[in-house]
Amino acid sequence: MTSAFHTLASKIPDSLTSVKDSRVSGFESRPSHSMAGKKETILIFCSHPDDAILGMGGTIAKYAKQGKQIIHTVFSCDSKHQWLLKKIYKPEDITQECVRASKALGISKTIFFDINDIALSKEIKKPWVHEKMLSLIKRYKPKQIYTHVTGEMRFKNHRNVHDAVLQAVHTVQYTGDILLFPLWSLDFRQKPMPKLVVDISQTIGQKFSVLQHFQSQKSSLLQLAPVVFCRNWKSALGTGFKYAEVFYKEQ
Ligand SMILES: [Zn+2]
Repeated sequence: MTSAFHTLASKIPDSLTSVKDSRVSGFESRPSHSMAGKKETILIFCSHPDDAILGMGGTIAKYAKQGKQIIHTVFSCDSKHQWLLKKIYKPEDITQECVRASKALGISKTIFFDINDIALSKEIKKPWVHEKMLSLIKRYKPKQIYTHVTGEMRFKNHRNVHDAVLQAVHTVQYTGDILLFPLWSLDFRQKPMPKLVVDISQTIGQKFSVLQHFQSQKSSLLQLAPVVFCRNWKSALGTGFKYAEVFYKEQ
């Protein structure tokens, strides 16, 4: 982060701001309602049910408190990496966990694509998925779209969803902001991109509290949650915030 960013960020505490250029030289406030009084909508595309909460749960809770409509889409709800859990938890169980966690965070609506995680890399390229994504963008007219960064090294399906989102926004000639959140890997290619840093000091407790709804992911979350917590703390260093989530703006 640049010193210019530090200065600006600390001058705008507890406000949601959007970076305008790659040198982090400008911000603009984002009111929760448009001039016409219509509720501002954000649309989130994620691979898995807990991705959005881990990657941007504090921001989601903050948006919800600001009165924004949050639409959350999840591509896959099975657990291919956890063969034992797969015997205990069915996809519909994980779907219900996600619905409960999403509601607790203030998400307005969660939409499931119900694609098997193993088949996602192929299925996501099919026309029905593209058409469904287009229809969601056209229906909700989001001011911002959030999804995974392009360089997730651990989960290729995060990259697949990122690429599908870019294809969809290109098709509809979407003109709003596309913001990317990292989860498990830092992609150095993202560093020159404009950044949005959101102060989540008031909502980080809620973010980690709702994770308790994911009983099916309990063992992995016990390991991952502390990592995410440290990242939220580290992301706030030098900003004047206590905890923060960072997003990169797709150009
Ligand atoms: Zn994931």
